[in-house]
Amino acid sequence: EAKRQGRGCVRLFDESMDESIRFRRQIETGLSEAIAKGELKLVFQPIVGRDLNIAGFEALIRWCSPEYGMVPPAMFIPIAEDSNLIHELGDWVIDEALAALKSWPRQYVSVNFSPRQFRRHNFVGHVVERVASAGVDPGRFQIEITETAIFDNAERAAEILFKLRQMGFRIALDDFGTGYSSLYNIRRFALDCLKIDRSFVDGMGRERESAAIVHSVIHLGRALGMEVVAEGVETAAQLEALRVAGCSHMQGFHLSRPVDAEEALLLAENGSLAPVRVPEPEVAGT
Ligand code: C2E
Ligand code: MG
Ligand code: MG
Ligand code: MG
Repeated sequence: EAKRQGRGCVRLFDESMDESIRFRRQIETGLSEAIAKGELKLVFQPIVGRDLNIAGFEALIRWCSPEYGMVPPAMFIPIAEDSNLIHELGDWVIDEALAALKSWPRQYVSVNFSPRQFRRHNFVGHVVERVASAGVDPGRFQIEITETAIFDNAERAAEILFKLRQMGFRIALDDFGTGYSSLYNIRRFALDCLKIDRSFVDGMGRERESAAIVHSVIHLGRALGMEVVAEGVETAAQLEALRVAGCSHMQGFHLSRPVDAEEALLLAENGSLAPVRVPEPEVAGT
């Protein structure tokens, strides 16, 4: 088609294609070396209960490339997902998350799995083996998946999640409300936790619709015995509104940014994000 429109057209088309393909290849190559070069790291964002006690941490990957600078996961995870790199990357994330968790007194670690990882042959055996060889209780390992990962083969997904849960793993549905799960599937899947997508939390104060959705998910979670985590809590007003609505768990910049492993350990040992209460000094003469 492009050929018939003349040589100039063909070249223009080819060049812009070349450009984006070359860019993807560069990212792919860079990423495939990033693990060995130590350019990847994990950061940890606290997930807190109503009294700001730290229940767990979500592990989030960072790529600090000397060539491209800080590359956000939203940019490179989809590229890794399109190649086999996602498996190597994912395994690195699991091992690194387990290593950090081992020094925390009681919190769980919540690890993101992309749809391709979840659909991997023998996904269950693979995860079980890594967690077991680290000597970690599966009850402290939460698997975060999105609706996209499960909706296209709900039958198989239900089976996998059931097995994992039987072995004691925690399962969370990430970005809940943005995908395609039906209430039927929510009931059928073995889930411990619903993570309300931050777009709804963000809209809570402005739109009745978002506030209504947040309230409904909180009630749904409670009725079905699931934990509900509100993602993307950015203001004190949102935190307050969520508490009033009865939300059990919260995560967001207002509570804590993702922090490095060292700082996560300090927070884990402290156990809470609540400020340490210093006794009032006695004031003389009053
Ligand atoms: P996600 O799993 O929904 O993770 C939450 C994202 O929201 C993180 O972005 C986090 O830094 C950000 N966030 C947390 N609190 C707030 C807030 O109050 N306001 C705003 N605006 N954002 C907040 P991040 O780290 O850039 O990750 C983006 C996505 O990349 C993640 O979304 C997840 O889908 C994916 N991802 C990150 N790490 C991994 C990984 O190790 N493996 C896989 N497969 N995917 C990952
Ligand atoms: Mg997540
Ligand atoms: Mg999320
Ligand atoms: Mg998200």
